[in-house]
Amino acid sequence: MEKINNVAVIGSGTMGAGIAQVAVQHGFTTVLYDIEEDQVKQAKHSIFKRLDRLVEKGKISEDQRDSAKNLLFLTTNIEEVGQVDLVIEAAPEKIEIKHSIFEKLEAVCSSTAVLASNTSSLSITEISGRRDHPNRVAGLHFFNPAPLMPLVEVIKGMHTSEEVIETLRAFAVQLNKTPVFCKDTPGFIVNRVARPFYNEALRMAQDQVASVEQIDRIMRNIGGFKMGPFELQDLIGIDINYATTTTVYDSFSGESRFRPSSLQKQMVQGGRLGRKTEGGFYEYKPM
Ligand code: NAD
Repeated sequence: MEKINNVAVIGSGTMGAGIAQVAVQHGFTTVLYDIEEDQVKQAKHSIFKRLDRLVEKGKISEDQRDSAKNLLFLTTNIEEVGQVDLVIEAAPEKIEIKHSIFEKLEAVCSSTAVLASNTSSLSITEISGRRDHPNRVAGLHFFNPAPLMPLVEVIKGMHTSEEVIETLRAFAVQLNKTPVFCKDTPGFIVNRVARPFYNEALRMAQDQVASVEQIDRIMRNIGGFKMGPFELQDLIGIDINYATTTTVYDSFSGESRFRPSSLQKQMVQGGRLGRKTEGGFYEYKPM
């Protein structure tokens, strides 16, 4: 089994920044890469702010915070991810973006590095299919917010080796997460189960059965959910949620139970993506 000493995370958005934070908090030197200079700066700002808040709340010591900060390296140069044992890709949920990133990773990383995708729903077998060494490609699916959510799905594509799966399982445990093994099927476990939660709520809002606020409040206060379906979409990113539903729908050859909502599509078209754009189903203050 490959021992993981250092990590790179590709894409410094909602998930990439969260995953990088978890990695540095657990002692892994971490390179966080993005194509956008502004995104990298924003990610550094939000990770540092969250680490400072953990100190204020007494959850970590100042020393732990400082060593976590010192393990984080940010870059817009893909060559700088070349020295790591594990890459976790957390770029947008589009298969062509994933293919182009994994092609670049194969060019810059050593042939023994493990290449994982944090995809919510795309096929690991498809992501690995065009690669020279598809056996080292797997899914490592964190949940949002990554620093808080304990579950990590470890996904074996058709070509993924058992050794790579074991390496990722052990890595997830080192992050103090709970790994679960998953077959490479659309939406894996959690995102498949969660599709009707969002879809039915969207249909109910469109049919004016109840308002967005009412549905969220009822699911929280009476249903016992931590967040309602619309608050959760704003947290996840409505574009990411819509892309996930679309992939699951297409992968099940258009089964009507997974059909994406036109309301959700319209939100994406209108650029109201949730917290990351300061507005979705609700309004938010800048971070
Ligand atoms: P996001 O939109 O918040 O961030 C994506 C980042 O990738 C942006 O910073 C963007 O600049 C960067 N990017 C775009 N093209 C790139 C490229 N070619 N190379 C490197 N970086 C690039 O997205 P997110 O919500 O963090 O989602 C990322 C991945 O994680 C997706 O596959 C998504 O399905 C998955 N995921 C998301 C959630 C969630 O709740 N948002 C949860 C689990 C998994």
